Amino acid sequence: MYNFLKQLIGITSVSGREAELLEKIRTLVSPYVDECSFDNLGNLMALKKGTDENAKNIMLCAHADEIGFMATYIEDNGYVRIAPIGGINFVSAAYSKVVFENGTKGVIVPESKCSDGKKADNYYVDIGADTKKSAEKKIKVGDVAVCEASVDKLMGKRIVGRPLDDRIGCAVLFDIARNLTESKNNVWFVFSTQEEVGCRGAKTAANKIVPDYALVFDVTGTGDTIGASPMAVKLGEGAAVKIKDASVICDHETVETLIELAKANKIPYQCEILTYGGTDTSSIQVSGIGARAAALSIPSRYIHSSVEMVDLKDAEACRDLALAFINNN
Ligand SMILES: [Zn+2]
Repeated sequence: MYNFLKQLIGITSVSGREAELLEKIRTLVSPYVDECSFDNLGNLMALKKGTDENAKNIMLCAHADEIGFMATYIEDNGYVRIAPIGGINFVSAAYSKVVFENGTKGVIVPESKCSDGKKADNYYVDIGADTKKSAEKKIKVGDVAVCEASVDKLMGKRIVGRPLDDRIGCAVLFDIARNLTESKNNVWFVFSTQEEVGCRGAKTAANKIVPDYALVFDVTGTGDTIGASPMAVKLGEGAAVKIKDASVICDHETVETLIELAKANKIPYQCEILTYGGTDTSSIQVSGIGARAAALSIPSRYIHSSVEMVDLKDAEACRDLALAFINNN
């Protein structure tokens, strides 16, 4: 899983600009599936066909996009104004290095007299230019940037960097595809677009697939850091079976099945109730005539910062539980 992540982490994939990353994933995943296609929103949909005549459709989904910035205006002195794409944590973004898609580097800084520092309006990117004209040689309005990507190993199987949200989910999907030998049902591996701006890609992908069941793989928060809100999810304690978040109540029967399968197969798991946020699960659940949607979350500390931390043991548990679920259906 770590090797897969390493290959993907440096490819910028801000919401709406996922094509390069998805092309790379297509190359890596295609040996393990029967066909790959893209839809009009850019979602990558890889299908492993089921052996049953009346095969059901199981949709597995992880988002390929990441949060970032878009250049909105270039000041006379060459500073680049930006708009956030997705839920930027400006406390974390302040004073970090950013990279534009064309490789131009800069730093994101708050205005000197900035008092609250929470709004994008208070920030600008300094690319080292001294005039608007020289800045425009490198950057134009509409260009996107991200905080520098990285991934490093820490103690045990813990890793840190960005954007682990949701490259780690993509890695889980890839590992499922690699380890799935045969299934009665059609298994769709969807690497979705534009999750960070409102779970948009998963909507059209689900409308196309019309899944009977869906499992979403994304990061979730933990309650195990100093000052964290009480939450029964800890790093390293297993796959987080989502029961609900602010945007979805997962299909109760599927949740119960997942918990039973975890117990029967001795796969470490924990129950997730996230009091904020949402994932593609909500979009898929209400697509078409509705799908039985649930989620296996990968616990993560410091989400949407440059030091997102996950434990690969949890990601492996998500993979194992998903494989048990597919084989059970
Ligand atoms: Zn995410």
